[in-house]
Order: sequence, then C-alpha cells, then structure tokens
Amino acid sequence: MLHFAVAGIPTTTPSPGGTVEGLHEAHRLGITAMEIEWVQRVPLNPDRMKEIRSTAEKLDMYLTCHAPYYVNLNSPEPAKLAASKKRVIDALSMAEIAGIKSVCVHPAFYLGMDPEVAFENVRKAVADIMKFKPKLFPNVNLGLETMGKPTQFGTLEEVLRISKEFGIYPTVDPAHMHARTNGLINSTKEWEEMLDTYASYLAKDPLKQMHIHFSGIAYGPKGEKHHLPLVESDAKWKDFLKVLKKRGVGGTVVCESPMLEKDTLKMKKEYALLNG
Ligand SMILES: [Zn+2]
Repeated sequence: MLHFAVAGIPTTTPSPGGTVEGLHEAHRLGITAMEIEWVQRVPLNPDRMKEIRSTAEKLDMYLTCHAPYYVNLNSPEPAKLAASKKRVIDALSMAEIAGIKSVCVHPAFYLGMDPEVAFENVRKAVADIMKFKPKLFPNVNLGLETMGKPTQFGTLEEVLRISKEFGIYPTVDPAHMHARTNGLINSTKEWEEMLDTYASYLAKDPLKQMHIHFSGIAYGPKGEKHHLPLVESDAKWKDFLKVLKKRGVGGTVVCESPMLEKDTLKMKKEYALLNG
C-alpha cells in the first residue's frame, strides 16, 4: 500500500490550524497521510503527541515527520554536535508517542572535509543516537535523507551504507538527487536503478515500506535551489509514479511541492489511474 502525504497541514485548514485540525482537513480532502513539519523545532509536549496519535488512528492516517533543519552530525564543534544529536533524539522520541513511523533527518554538511571522514563522523553520531532506540523510540525509523546540494552529506550510497549498518531505512528524495546531479535522475531507467541500489543494501522486502519525498525542483550547478509545483518543473512525475507502481513500492510519498494538498491529490489521483 502506497500513501501520498501532504507536507504539513493543508492550506485550507480552518484557523487556528495546528496538526490535529490539519489531519482532519487532509482526511476530508481524501488524503491518507501527512508529514508533520518540525523543521524549526520539535514540540516537546507528550499530551499533544497523544492527541495527534489518537486523531491519526481514528482517521487512519499514515504519519511521518521532518526533524529540524538545524542539524549537522558532522560538526567539529562539540556543542553543535551535541545539540544536533539532541534535536534528532527529541524528534524520534516525540514521534514514538505520536505514532509516527519514520522521521526524516538532513544528516550533515561536509564542511570541506573528505567525504569518507565526514561519513565516519556521521556514522558515529548515528551510533550515539541509536543507543536510545530501545528506550525512547523502539517503533520509529530514523530516515536519513538524500540531499540536494553537493555540499551536503547525503548521496544515496552514503545514507544507505549507514542505514544498512543500523537496520534503518533512508528518506529517498529523487527530486534532491535530480538537483544534486544538475538534471540526471529523471527517467524510468534511472529510477529503476535507484530502487535496485536501495534494495541491494537493505534486508527483507525493503521496497514494501519506503519513506519517499517528491516535488518539482529548481536547480543548477550547485544543486538544489528551491522546490517547485509539479507542473512548473521538468520532473517526469507521471513516469516516476509508474515506476513506483510497477515495483510495488509501499509506504509513503511525501509531496513537497509548494502546492501542498493540490499536488498531493494530483499525484494520488494519477497513481490510482495506473494499472499495477
Ligand atoms: Zn528534507
């Protein structure tokens, strides 16, 4: 089963808004999943998390969330590294209470270091974070994201190597991969290869529960500039959906278009028309 998630609360959510109202609005629109955006900060309120959980269970909504942007698991500054790890652990812990399945994390910046040195630093930080899994987030996935700029840690291979070691699965963002390579990764063949690579690293039917991001994207030689609505971009998004259908990909595709619920429904409707 593949869900299409709105990235944050729908724009049509009645005021005063909030995640619970947003879940009701998304459900009313016919959307079955949401990525909750904790990109500025993680709300450390267990009662609110329980309310999110009971609402999502009642409406049968599949939940993911996005951890704060202010994370660099490759920071050489001990205070910044510790704060980064804490933000990720907080997001995972609150996700556990809220019934969120997977937390998207932007792992790190290279800061001019050799990628293998950065890799080892990120790996160590992930090991420190994962020590808390049994106690704080036994049922939540840490989804290290594939990133859109060459200065950012997060090629598909990097996030897969770490994920394999810790029994987790990454957040795969083909739009970021498209931007990072200044225009590649936008065809059936390349997406097939992407899924083959993904499956080759991870155990047991990994395509059955994926955490995917997708949107149109503006890019140049330095990679990602900003996200775009599907119709304003060069993304061959209908072909991408065909690949997902053909390969039986399950889990959730978070639509990160600025058109939020409109493009989420566009993808969901197009996918429903495909014959599997
Ligand atoms: Zn992201």
